[in-house]
Amino acid sequence: MNLSEKDQLYNWHPYTQHQTIGLLPAIVKGQGALLWDEEGNEYIDAIASWWVNPYGHSNSVMAEAIYKQLTTLEHVLFGGFTNEPAVVLSEKLLTLLPSNQKKVFYSDNGSTAVEVALKAALQFFYNKKEVRRRILAFNDAFHGDTFGAMASSGITFFTEAFQGSLVDVCRIPVPVEGQELHVLQVLEEQLQTGEFAAFIFEPLCQGAAGMVMYSPEVLDKMILLCRTYGVFTIADEVMTGFGKTGKNFACDHLTEQPDMMCFSKALTGGTIPMAITTFTQQLFNGFLDADVNKALFHGHTFTANPTGCAAALASLKLLESEPIQANIQHIHQRHLAFSDRIKNHPRVQTTRVLGVIFALEICREEQESYYGDFRNRLYHFFIKNGVILRPVGNIVYILPPYIITDEQLEKVYAIVERALEIN
Ligand SMILES: *Cc1c(COP(=O)(O)O)cnc(C)c1O
Repeated sequence: MNLSEKDQLYNWHPYTQHQTIGLLPAIVKGQGALLWDEEGNEYIDAIASWWVNPYGHSNSVMAEAIYKQLTTLEHVLFGGFTNEPAVVLSEKLLTLLPSNQKKVFYSDNGSTAVEVALKAALQFFYNKKEVRRRILAFNDAFHGDTFGAMASSGITFFTEAFQGSLVDVCRIPVPVEGQELHVLQVLEEQLQTGEFAAFIFEPLCQGAAGMVMYSPEVLDKMILLCRTYGVFTIADEVMTGFGKTGKNFACDHLTEQPDMMCFSKALTGGTIPMAITTFTQQLFNGFLDADVNKALFHGHTFTANPTGCAAALASLKLLESEPIQANIQHIHQRHLAFSDRIKNHPRVQTTRVLGVIFALEICREEQESYYGDFRNRLYHFFIKNGVILRPVGNIVYILPPYIITDEQLEKVYAIVERALEIN
């Protein structure tokens, strides 16, 4: 039996209907933007393995930093102790974030980063004996698969089996172009109820919804409105963080600053699962008291794992390096040129570009479902042609690792262009 066959025997994959899926390629090696399966087929990883791997597979800078940490101190508990990589990483990250971010809380993945932010917002008001138990979020948001994160997500088929067991969330429309004034009005009406503890959003670009984009100007206004009504803002930068939008963070495009920020995905360059939630001093102070019960009661066993922190530090060094910064701008320019090249194609409904994110909507008679047949035909066409892309319904997006070569990126564009012939 090969790996694919054994996998089918033993493994249960995420978001996967195993009755119909068939054998999955077993990836045995990665280098740069390329992956190889056990049969020797080569793939371009055009979505950086779910957006986590900007510096390429088997990156030697990352590998050396991790090895060095593993042979110094691989792990120590963060309850009652601290460790050097965690202290150095927190200090470094805070210099890069909006200036109001003052405290760093570690966890393991994007969902837990969101969970921590939501719990902090709810407990902040509980500590003050103020009744604010609801959360505001966008339609079609994706914040993760744990219960709080799932409640604040709006992609219904991901969450509908769990309705009734979730945190009370009010969803408002996304302020895409033309909807800004309407959304600001809806937001203000909700804020006036005084029921909300926090507003959570994916800043500027909703990843899992299919790279749905909206402007920094309207988000600035929304943050300002929330502040006026004493509602905390949570920027979920799990997808947008670390260069994807052309700046280090999507919030760097804003004038206003959010109260909390969530990071994971590219935080450790695709090496070790880790996440961070950051807070303002005001939020942190809401938990200070002689009474231990006012402390934030949340934690994970692998909190601030030194190896993960060392990986994140190496990852930040790469992000700030001149070649990576140049690549980000270069990919952005190439996306713009590709957008110009195909936007008048009769099958192209719209194109969107933000930083290294490119998205394209293919014209369809009917609305396509997230994992529908058309989407599957596209997906298999890409895989057959050696390019990993995961369309969302009729939306094809590219989010390549920053080290992708011009030739590799051109191959991705060419395949996307050919996919416009698929019905
Ligand atoms: C992927 C994602 C999450 C969830 O992260 P996991 O590590 O999969 O739990 C949360 N928020 C956003 C914006 C994401 O893209």
